[in-house]
Amino acid sequence: MSPTTAATLETPPTTRHTKRHLLSSADLDRDQIKAILDTAAEMHTVQSREVKKLPTLRGRTVVNLFFEDSTRTRSSFEIAGKWLSADVINVSAKGSSTSKGESLRDTVLTIAAMGVDALVIRHSASGAAHQVAQWVDAHVVNAGDGMHEHPTQALLDAYSMQQRLGDLEGRHVAIVGDLTHSRVVRSNLITLRTLGAKVTLVAPPTLMPSGIGAWAASDGFELSHDLDAVLPTADAVMMLRVQRERMSGGFFPTAREYTVGYGLTRPRLETLTRANPDAVICHPGPMNRGLEIAADAADAAQSLVLDQVSAGVAVRMSVLYHLLSGEETQS
Ligand code: ASP
Repeated sequence: MSPTTAATLETPPTTRHTKRHLLSSADLDRDQIKAILDTAAEMHTVQSREVKKLPTLRGRTVVNLFFEDSTRTRSSFEIAGKWLSADVINVSAKGSSTSKGESLRDTVLTIAAMGVDALVIRHSASGAAHQVAQWVDAHVVNAGDGMHEHPTQALLDAYSMQQRLGDLEGRHVAIVGDLTHSRVVRSNLITLRTLGAKVTLVAPPTLMPSGIGAWAASDGFELSHDLDAVLPTADAVMMLRVQRERMSGGFFPTAREYTVGYGLTRPRLETLTRANPDAVICHPGPMNRGLEIAADAADAAQSLVLDQVSAGVAVRMSVLYHLLSGEETQS
């Protein structure tokens, strides 16, 4: 796709993915992912402009409906919508009628009845976004449903890695840590495999999701309990947060033991760098510094953590743009 100018960003893209919703990373094939990432690269240029505003979604209304805490995702969807000139409203569970006992369905139908064009939803229940998409006419974007999926996170991760590594086809990405409680891992697996990357999931046996072996066997990705064996061949290492809020029991003996086995410590950063000076480090945030990632690694030159945040705005602009812009021309 040839680079487009700001003027063309104000009109529908030629290769636009025409799905109504973004609920799962599996909604997107390779060409659709590439179209979103190409548009995101163009959207990214808005960030360095003095006037960060495109008229693309003028007159459209986007509601961010967040039933779980969020810093990055919610604010980046808000900025993304605003930079595209949409009217953006944030509704969070705290402070909404949900705290008075209103059901998800009633809350969603109430908001939709106001004439909303897109609903960006985060909820602690897996499948919540899929359910909401059946209730409303608005476009629905899954901004994280429980331990299930987080498709825009996977897109921004792919975008950030691609910026440094180039095409991800054949690149080796190690995804490390609390796989059981992570929605990021499922979406990343789908997107990275669709893009042709080689993936190894690394976790202690207690944090390997049940049933992952069958998926790995059918899709051809690797599983490992040995981070030190995987690191030397990795082009990218994605560290996942230990999600204590979703843990009901003891998944590892002590924080110290977890770090010794699965943390990206300073010695491991050195191993990674020695083996591949161009390797990059990702973390979706929020980070538990000192647990799954040492400050040395989080702040290293190879770390993409802040690039991921910056990419998040561009990718979410692109997603809103692909879903909403010029939809009247959709068949
Ligand atoms: N921010 C990501 C998510 O919402 C990762 C995390 O919370 O650990 O899933």
